[in-house]
Amino acid sequence: MNQDWRGALIRHLLLLILAAALLGAVTGQYGWALAACLGFYLGWTLWQVLRLHKWLKNHRDDEPPPDGYGLWGEVFDSIYHLQRRNERARGRLQAVIDRMQESTAALRDAVVMLDADGNLEWWNIAAERLLGLRSPQDGGQPVTNLIRHPRFKEYFAHGNYQEPLDLPSPVNDKQLLQFQITLYGNGEHLMLARDVTRVHLLEQMRKDFVANVSHELRTPLTVIAGYLETLLDNVENINPRWNRALQQMQQQASRMKTLLNDLLLLAKLEATDYPADNKPVAVDLMLLAIRNDAQALSGTNEHRISLEADPKVRLKGSEAELRSAFSNLVFNAVKYTPAGGEIRIRWWGDEQGAHLSVQDSGIGIDPKHLPRLTERFYRVDSSRNASTGGTGLGLAIVKHVLIRHRGTLDISSVLGKGSSFVCHFPPQQMA
Ligand code: ADP
Repeated sequence: MNQDWRGALIRHLLLLILAAALLGAVTGQYGWALAACLGFYLGWTLWQVLRLHKWLKNHRDDEPPPDGYGLWGEVFDSIYHLQRRNERARGRLQAVIDRMQESTAALRDAVVMLDADGNLEWWNIAAERLLGLRSPQDGGQPVTNLIRHPRFKEYFAHGNYQEPLDLPSPVNDKQLLQFQITLYGNGEHLMLARDVTRVHLLEQMRKDFVANVSHELRTPLTVIAGYLETLLDNVENINPRWNRALQQMQQQASRMKTLLNDLLLLAKLEATDYPADNKPVAVDLMLLAIRNDAQALSGTNEHRISLEADPKVRLKGSEAELRSAFSNLVFNAVKYTPAGGEIRIRWWGDEQGAHLSVQDSGIGIDPKHLPRLTERFYRVDSSRNASTGGTGLGLAIVKHVLIRHRGTLDISSVLGKGSSFVCHFPPQQMA
């Protein structure tokens, strides 16, 4: 190509000099003849530049550059080749994009691409079916205008997409969708929505089953416990051999009653996402009552239970649920701390929110158990439970109550030294 350029340039110069010499020989004015030839060449060059300029400004995508002669022909040819190469590369890229879009369009899950401000850029057909997006009129709209559920708005604004969000579909409230958002590129969002109605129905059936069984068992158990009590009240009419058996039966019946009550409470907590009442709760007074109950529970074990609670820090939520969670933590501290041990209860607020800490100098928990401690019926040591009368549901209840109040639970413990359970509530949950 360089050779062509140079050849064309030399040819042009030779032609120019030859034309100037001929004109000079005819007219006898060599200087004017050279000036005239140079002027002509300049004009021709300007004309070519103008043609190129016009083509660059107005050409259609597939229109080749104008034909040219000599040096300018070479320039136009090079541009034409560049143009063809770009077209081929663009074609290849478009084919890749088309294939990607075809495969995502065929997905049964909704795929939505949003820009950094949360405006819709692209979505597949499933997104139209599951989320009711309309093509093309919804393009460029903020996603929170189209999925208007308050929990979605809160989830989207929060920017922490570690956990997925389950919500009813905006087009069909019998359908439950699970939303998952991933950030990519310059803060753009990739949102996936999946139909989890079936999983949700199975989960619902499991919850209903547990709730129904617990409920149905309550009546026969009340009858049995009632008769046992009557029998024990008339202990003098009973063969003394039965005395111990009856006492144990009564003990187990009362354990079963606590278990059923805990199961029913858990089922109730699971039935909704947020507590029905959202009133400011005076946690300091509640903790005072719990502390007194804990002292009574400690009885002859004489634990030293201290309470420091800031009366100015109040929490929005359900008093009954919070009482049940906090008393579970404090009673656990009493149950799992040997006689004379120390228990510290603290309630305070700071810029991160409100916090409750229950610290004991008890038997502690091996760190390997900590991740699973809040699971239902998870026990560190099952023989320990029989003596403390625990149901294994206490910490599961604590976890659920905290989730419903947007709180989190931090557990730390050293075996043989003691444990610390800290509940954290975000500032928006404070009254
Ligand atoms: P439980 O009704 O058995 O106490 P929880 O769910 O309240 O059930 O607690 C689960 C397990 O965690 C308990 O069995 C116990 O082993 C352990 N645990 C809970 N709190 C403490 C504590 N303060 N100190 C030591 N172990 C604890």
